[in-house]
Amino acid sequence: MARFADGTHIQPDILIGADGIDSSVRDVIAAGIEPQALESIVYRAVTTVDLPEAYRSQGVEIWGNGTYTGGAPIDADRFYWFATAPGPAPADSTGPVDTIAALRNRYADYPEPIPTVVGSLDADEVFVTGLRDIPSLETWSCGSVVIAGDAAHGMLPFAGQGAAQAIEDALALVHALDMQDGPTTAFEEFETKRKPRADRIRSESHRLGMLGLVQSSVGIRARNLAVKLLPGTIFRWFRRRRAAQTSLPEPTTPTEPADIST
Ligand SMILES: Cc1cc2nc3c(=O)[nH]c(=O)nc-3n(C[C@H](O)[C@H](O)[C@H](O)COP(=O)(O)OP(=O)(O)OC[C@H]3O[C@@H](n4cnc5c(N)ncnc54)[C@H](O)[C@@H]3O)c2cc1C
Repeated sequence: MARFADGTHIQPDILIGADGIDSSVRDVIAAGIEPQALESIVYRAVTTVDLPEAYRSQGVEIWGNGTYTGGAPIDADRFYWFATAPGPAPADSTGPVDTIAALRNRYADYPEPIPTVVGSLDADEVFVTGLRDIPSLETWSCGSVVIAGDAAHGMLPFAGQGAAQAIEDALALVHALDMQDGPTTAFEEFETKRKPRADRIRSESHRLGMLGLVQSSVGIRARNLAVKLLPGTIFRWFRRRRAAQTSLPEPTTPTEPADIST
């Protein structure tokens, strides 16, 4: 039975908890799981900015001193920007905890297009949130209840994969429910296909976060040297491998409509 805040309740055949990293439905499957917070915050904005041609077709990522910033063009004059900064998670995400002047000052020495993008920000388009993930869960379902997306594998954003993994969940879950006779076997298939991959990417994102946010000068020098020495082909191989290991169901051939002519 699912009860809602307005007093109504339902008794569905199955309940899919796609209710985010602070999932309430998750409590039915794994009670007491608390998201783990990093001592870092993230600013995000979509801003209108006139950038040189070179920055209008590809995204950037820059690892700094305890900060990690970057973004990607959305269209001819809009840019999605993010930047992390050391600090405790804010109580809410409704406004910047820092002034725009402080942000401009902090990112002034970063390579372009960051200073230009930060220079174009309006205070009311910047919002700030904490950085959190959840530990790997033992299982994603219990009886007729299953969780998906951030509820099941909320991850740090450093691999840029949280929403992508939630979409893979949705496709795999629908496919399993379609192909299996009942929820128990469908949820088993869903978990077998999705959990190892989502958990692996969650851990990968955590490790990338540790690298991106490192603050000690020795750590930063070691990280930068290692990245310089690693050939670009290794990075590209790593990304291709992640895409190739997708657990998406094979597309099915649509069945021909039955011939009902007599
Ligand atoms: C800084 C940052 C950058 C990111 N960058 C990327 C990226 O580049 N690429 C990428 O793929 N992902 C990225 N992500 C991750 C992505 O945003 C999430 O993984 C994704 O939104 C998860 O989708 P979801 O549907 O599982 O959960 P959510 O998007 O959190 O949706 C859950 C929904 O459930 C609702 N809800 C919760 N509780 C209840 C309730 N009790 N009753 C009714 N409704 C409820 C919420 O209001 C919400 O609408 C980023 C995340 C962050 C924080």
